[in-house]
Amino acid sequence: MKIICVGWNYPDHNKEMSRTELPAEPTLFMKPDSAILKDGKPFFIPDFSDRIEYETEIVIRINRLGKNIAEKFAPRYYDAMTVGIDFTARDLQQTLREKGQPWEISKAFDNSAVLGEFISTEDVDMTKIQFSMKMNDELRQSACTEEMIFSINKIISYASKYFTLKKGDLIFTGTPSGVGRVDINDHIEGYIENNKVLDFFVK
Ligand code: MG
Repeated sequence: MKIICVGWNYPDHNKEMSRTELPAEPTLFMKPDSAILKDGKPFFIPDFSDRIEYETEIVIRINRLGKNIAEKFAPRYYDAMTVGIDFTARDLQQTLREKGQPWEISKAFDNSAVLGEFISTEDVDMTKIQFSMKMNDELRQSACTEEMIFSINKIISYASKYFTLKKGDLIFTGTPSGVGRVDINDHIEGYIENNKVLDFFVK
């Protein structure tokens, strides 16, 4: 399976990262399956970075094979969602950007794609999903999917032009504002509406 991630998909996050122009197309990047961390297992801060940041995102799960999917048919291609953390080695990412190099080692390293428990998307209006993240009981990120620059259907349509989507593939749909650093012993909890779907510690 593969993990497709979207960058720059919420205007207020783009602003906090000093990026003001509205992107014309989604920015996509990938993580390998070795990036997955799930079942509430702890995230260990890797020794190659001094600044690991959380990005809280709605993650959707693809449920069938698809290529060149039209936007209006995109809802048929996923059946579950959760809250995930797109961990980013921000210091490494900055260095790579300055050198004009690909992002992978700063974005796709082991355990950088944390997954909560999946819940069904049947009969759910995916443009109105309220999600949030608390760190150490303090609200850090909160948003609604209607704030996305590119909707979930648009992302599926666009990604499937380039990559055949397969059952079990995951899409991280981008972070809203409020990204920040994690440190040892931080406790992260992710919610869809009031349902806690994600709960783990940083070690
Ligand atoms: Mg992200």
